Amino acid sequence: MKVYVLSLGCARTLVDSEGLAGLLARSGHTVTEEIGQAECVVVNTCAFIREAEEESIATILDVADLKRTGKLRRLYVAGCLPQKRRLERKELLKLLPEVDGFLGPGDLRRLPALIERNGHGRFFVTSPVPTLLFESKDPRWRLTSKHFAYLKISEGCDHACTFCSIPQFRGAHRSRTMEDLVEEAKRLVSDGAVELNLVGQDTSYYGADLYGRPRLAELLEKLSRISGIRWIRVLYAHPAHVTDALIQAIRDLPNVVKYVDIPLQHINDALLSAMRRETDGGQIRRLIDRFRREIPGVALRTTFITGFPGETEDQVKELEEFMKEARFERLGIFPYSPEPKTPSERMPGQLSEEIRQERFGRLMRLQQGIAKEINEQWLGREIEVLVDEPVDEPGTVQARDTLQSRVSPSGLSPIYLGRTTADAPEVDGQVFIRSQAPLSAGQLVRARVVDTSEYDLVAEAG
Ligand code: SF4
Repeated sequence: MKVYVLSLGCARTLVDSEGLAGLLARSGHTVTEEIGQAECVVVNTCAFIREAEEESIATILDVADLKRTGKLRRLYVAGCLPQKRRLERKELLKLLPEVDGFLGPGDLRRLPALIERNGHGRFFVTSPVPTLLFESKDPRWRLTSKHFAYLKISEGCDHACTFCSIPQFRGAHRSRTMEDLVEEAKRLVSDGAVELNLVGQDTSYYGADLYGRPRLAELLEKLSRISGIRWIRVLYAHPAHVTDALIQAIRDLPNVVKYVDIPLQHINDALLSAMRRETDGGQIRRLIDRFRREIPGVALRTTFITGFPGETEDQVKELEEFMKEARFERLGIFPYSPEPKTPSERMPGQLSEEIRQERFGRLMRLQQGIAKEINEQWLGREIEVLVDEPVDEPGTVQARDTLQSRVSPSGLSPIYLGRTTADAPEVDGQVFIRSQAPLSAGQLVRARVVDTSEYDLVAEAG
């Protein structure tokens, strides 16, 4: 069958989707890049918060339309949504009658066999505790551009943040061995990757389960020796496990980018304690200071939650002050979402949706101003850019037309999209590059910044 794998949500799910596509290809199916050509679609879902669940369901319903109007014969739903809703399977089966089968993130290996047997009726397969973690010996069908890749170094999480349901449906923290990761990294490089982005629920805890202590720094050292890797980036590092060795590795290894993605969630002590974040405001401030002092030029990315139960106006102000002091280069804000079966769902002091949204909007506006000022500092300076794609490829222009017209008012110069070391793929800003010479994806070029916006830069190459 012609199969299309549609991956929703974060990079960790994307890696699973690539594993799933690899398994389907190995069992004789043809993976297609055109959803309209597919006889079978697998939607690998995200259910991290209620909004993500709603988006997953809306996407499934859109795809289901293809059963009536297109070539689609089979539709399967995989990943976090069925796992999170495993006890409400009857409702999900009823809500989505077009779906032929559901399976959880721990059961992806079973999909080829389940597709074979699907003539015998719909299925809903989820393990109580998912344990799957793809390894280098598993087939992987790349769904992103070949020049960058995600390397999943661990899965699951041992923390008990009171707002988070992820450990319920992703299971306990488990790491892959360094040898296996080096093996997979070499394969990705020989397949064209020049940038590796290390992902997991809790990357700074990498290795603690296998080796008795966190060993991300050693993993970085081993990966950095692989010839051909230009950029290695660490995503999703928990602040409680950042070690001296990790800071040194990011500072000293030349192909490890000076970028730290460290979700902090808040700065107020009482809220951090209610969230059970295993850090307090003082520790966080000291850590941010250390990053700034010890890794010159580091770009910091974080996420904050606002509207957590009991959050007061003073605590929001404390967060605002901290954002002004720390000046994160990249920052995501989430309005608090009460997730089923999490301790915070039952906490007193739940705030209205209106208050959560108002605080979210206020913090976003504050960050926009900070990000704009940070970007303006780059005007006239030369930067190194990794080229991602020409701008005229489908799907790349979208709402950025205005900026594009500033890059090339005449519309004559070729324009490319790229990123600096401070931009992780898909979540951070981009660089619009004007270049007379043709550029190709994966190429590193020097370019001078000629214009900026809140999130993006405009630059002229060579
Ligand atoms: S560290 Fe906390 S927020 Fe992150 S996945 Fe684990 S429990 Fe959830």
